[in-house]
Amino acid sequence: MYTNLMPQYPKVEWRSCTLHSCVHQRFKFILWLAVQNRLETVDRLMKIGIQVPTDCAFCGATLETFDHL
Ligand SMILES: [Zn+2]
Repeated sequence: MYTNLMPQYPKVEWRSCTLHSCVHQRFKFILWLAVQNRLETVDRLMKIGIQVPTDCAFCGATLETFDHL
């Protein structure tokens, strides 16, 4: 009865990556955010009005966007 009441979603390709037991929970969460294009990049923070340095935190060369990362 319980499984019949639960919504059924199609399985996604990245499911096995997130369920792998040797991957740390933090990295699973970051992967989950990245797959959904919800990483807190500079361009997304600027859209909601948060002022942060615009340069990429890793290379400092350009605006930090999802595509750049
Ligand atoms: Zn960079």
